[in-house]
Amino acid sequence: MRKALVGVGLVGAAGAAATVARSAGRGVPTEVSPNAKRAVVLGAGFGGLAAARTLASEKNGEDLDVLLVDRQNYHLFTPILYQVATAGVTPDNIVHPVRYIARDHGFRFQESNVESIDLEGRQVHTDDGPIPFDYLVVAVGSTTNYFGMNAVQEHSLALKTLGDGISIRNRILDALEAAEVETDPEKRKALLTFIVVGAGYTGVELVTSMQDLLHKVLLKDYPAIKPEEVRVMVVEAIGQVMLGFDQRLADAAEKTMREKGVEVLLNTPVNRVEPEGIYTASGDFIPSRTVVWAAGVRASELIGQLPGNKGRDGRVSVNDSMQIEGHDNVFVVGDAAAYVLPGEARPLPPNAPVAIAEGKTAAKNVLHSLRGEPVEPFKYKRQGQLVALGYLDGVAELYGRIRLSGLLGWLAWRGVYLYKLTGMKNRMGVLVDWAFGIARKRETNRL
Ligand SMILES: Cc1cc2nc3c(=O)[nH]c(=O)nc-3n(C[C@H](O)[C@H](O)[C@H](O)COP(=O)(O)OP(=O)(O)OC[C@H]3O[C@@H](n4cnc5c(N)ncnc54)[C@H](O)[C@@H]3O)c2cc1C
Repeated sequence: MRKALVGVGLVGAAGAAATVARSAGRGVPTEVSPNAKRAVVLGAGFGGLAAARTLASEKNGEDLDVLLVDRQNYHLFTPILYQVATAGVTPDNIVHPVRYIARDHGFRFQESNVESIDLEGRQVHTDDGPIPFDYLVVAVGSTTNYFGMNAVQEHSLALKTLGDGISIRNRILDALEAAEVETDPEKRKALLTFIVVGAGYTGVELVTSMQDLLHKVLLKDYPAIKPEEVRVMVVEAIGQVMLGFDQRLADAAEKTMREKGVEVLLNTPVNRVEPEGIYTASGDFIPSRTVVWAAGVRASELIGQLPGNKGRDGRVSVNDSMQIEGHDNVFVVGDAAAYVLPGEARPLPPNAPVAIAEGKTAAKNVLHSLRGEPVEPFKYKRQGQLVALGYLDGVAELYGRIRLSGLLGWLAWRGVYLYKLTGMKNRMGVLVDWAFGIARKRETNRL
């Protein structure tokens, strides 16, 4: 998983003229003309929202019904999710209702779980019945990659959904409550060891924030727990942290983690997770009751139903118009798609700016197809990468030229993500959460 700038300045206000009627003063279409072509977008994440917004705002009078489908009715701002897990922000502040966005931009939304995709029959099957389409944009994202290890999935926590963030937060608080009254030294050790597996961008942000939460915020309220009893560690299979990040900044991040007291175990693949701890490939056992698996993602299972080449991470190959092999009316974008830029060897990383740019290209190409115009190729410009390293610390690489670390990196991270966060209410809420966080006051209720 890549940590990158999220270009959420998606598209402007919804286009004006359309043959679908709209309710007065609002953008949600109220009836669909019987002759309208149907563009269905699956997934209201970064890619799907960009596609739906672009379709609605650029269709300019085309008789096109735009329907966005997601199993949840909100958009999750993942870059700040690790702060839900570490009580840095209130969960409500990083989600935004999709129906507000649909109303503002003039497309329809349906909350349904997509169960299968029938390309020949041109319909998707959901738990609420079939939805026919003329054009389909698939943006269903990814899931945690357990590399086929079922026990890992069973005994570790993931950080992918809002619920995951809340579960991690609760587990940390539960572990401290239990340790406060536990007298068995072995059990105390397991309760007070917190492990993040995977030192990618998300793992690094999570583990540093966890260290701060425990040592700077929580421990003062647990008099029976000595700070030296608490271990926070990140365990990584390869020999470096934040693979793919600017090397100097990745090295700086590793140094910062160690200085903060995080144990960084490199070249240490984990091949088993049990309720009482983890086993490394060399057979070592590390006791822990809180293990978060942040070792990678793979495309959503629905992608397995689509034709075309798939990588080991399950992403389906798309051409430079974001179409899949043999189906000009089907586009796949974001974490579900594997697109290799000309001249490069590997697909673009799964991150939000890539998903947004691909979503926009797919939408524009739906409109080109509808108008009988040639499709346009995907263009992508890397914007930069940001990683927060806990209290007043971070690293940032912007536009390949600017490198920031320490307080400046932290300020860049906060500034960019506050700006990108969807919804003014959310921005104000996160700002308040952050202000309290700087004063070392976090919401430590068990939710
Ligand atoms: C903890 C975390 C931190 C991250 N931090 C960053 C960051 O700082 N910068 C960055 O650029 N990227 C970050 N990423 C990666 C980024 O979130 C993804 O690359 C991006 O969200 C991909 O966009 P997408 O549209 O492909 O999928 P998503 O945004 O994941 O959206 C997929 C949508 O599809 C819906 N869906 C899935 N299956 C179904 C179904 N069967 N039926 C109906 N709906 C379905 C989901 O509910 C979801 O709303 C982070 C990811 C995580 C998990």
